[in-house]
Amino acid sequence: MGAVNATQRISIFQLVKPINIVEVINRYNIVELKKRGRRWMARCPLHDDHSPSFVVFPNGKWKCFGCGEYGDAVDLVAKVFKLKLIEAARMVARDFGIEANKPLSPADRKKVIRQARKREMERAFCEKLEQAHETLALLVRTINRRLATGGYQAHYDLAELLHKVDYYKYLIDCLLSNNAEIQLMALNSFNREFYV
Ligand SMILES: [Zn+2]
Repeated sequence: MGAVNATQRISIFQLVKPINIVEVINRYNIVELKKRGRRWMARCPLHDDHSPSFVVFPNGKWKCFGCGEYGDAVDLVAKVFKLKLIEAARMVARDFGIEANKPLSPADRKKVIRQARKREMERAFCEKLEQAHETLALLVRTINRRLATGGYQAHYDLAELLHKVDYYKYLIDCLLSNNAEIQLMALNSFNREFYV
């Protein structure tokens, strides 16, 4: 393939240059762009911007008229995600399916693997949270329904579970919190309750 040979001496920055900056911004959810004529506008992702000061030009460059930052797609990704330019370029290349001919350095490879593992762990954690939440919610609903329809007999049958409903509701609140430590604590309590 001639194209591959032709790119061999081209730097990663040149490889990612043709990628549309609007697609890059959307891909990484950097800001919500609004079209204004041939330009795009948004609130700046780099400073606390209350009116849209961030402009993307048709030539693929951007500038913020609030904080004065400017650059191209790779500069933006680097600034937003606090990466080195080369890391930003590699990330964009990877995510847009451009194969860089130069293999990653061992250090970069480790970093990428670490990031992938972290993302994988976060995903697995979210799945466990969801499962625990579903189980507890179903349990609370079932107990409440039995209590509502089952009369005295149900209260008698469920006596042991009855005093746990409040505790389960508390665990559900913790699972739904925004604090990962509280979520983990609730998940551990859930596992102790049901799997040990
Ligand atoms: Zn700004």
